[in-house]
Amino acid sequence: MRGLWDRLRRRSEQRAVERRAIPDALWQQTLAHYPFLARRDAADVAALRRLSSLFLDRKEFSGAQGLDVDDAMAVAIAAQACLPVLRIGLAAYDGFVGIVVQPDEVQVRREFVDDAGIVHEVDDVLSGEAIEGGPMMLSWRDVAEGGDTSAWGYNVVIHEFAHVLDMGDGIADGVPPLPSQAERRRWEGVLSREYEAFGRAVDAGRGTVLDPYGAEAPAEFFAVATEAFFVAPHDLRGEMPALYALLAGYYRQDPAR
Ligand SMILES: [Zn+2]
Repeated sequence: MRGLWDRLRRRSEQRAVERRAIPDALWQQTLAHYPFLARRDAADVAALRRLSSLFLDRKEFSGAQGLDVDDAMAVAIAAQACLPVLRIGLAAYDGFVGIVVQPDEVQVRREFVDDAGIVHEVDDVLSGEAIEGGPMMLSWRDVAEGGDTSAWGYNVVIHEFAHVLDMGDGIADGVPPLPSQAERRRWEGVLSREYEAFGRAVDAGRGTVLDPYGAEAPAEFFAVATEAFFVAPHDLRGEMPALYALLAGYYRQDPAR
């Protein structure tokens, strides 16, 4: 039965890839705009293109505030979103379907209750947001700038999809689902050491390859580390080799190679 099931799944995937085939010109344009995609070897680029078609088939894009999400925008988001799951597989993103694209960053007002029970209101500016079960929100301006901002390790799409992976076990804590308890303990050990060292560097005002925002919480640290891992891998490997090795094991990719 398993063989039959696999064959049926492969056939339905192949149909989806054909249905949502990305035209050559559009794919080349996407690679040219995001150099960290074009740097990958030919096999990875081909796998990424196929996975991006499956992503386009499974996700629903909608534009907010009158924004028209055209094919080029959808492909740009799909290709960047699929890079982290090139080996892990697209099923890791099955927990949500909708992607809302805003023209620009979004102002939000949030309430939170502090330890003394006092309610505070804070204004926040979001370039993206991943919520368990979706939808995901992305600011198109930030997505479009992802080619240029890769030089300093910043990428909003990869950041938000790292949160999706992290939340795969129901908790945003910087620990994605791992195959065993031993793996989980090892992960927590490396991540907490690196997180604390990073916090000290940020407090001391030392510039690092990672966005200082990563010092907010382990979940943000995992997300900004994943951004750097994929868009500025040599810098991350040079500065934080243990963190790079941890992510290379999890993503089963070695982008600095
Ligand atoms: Zn975040």
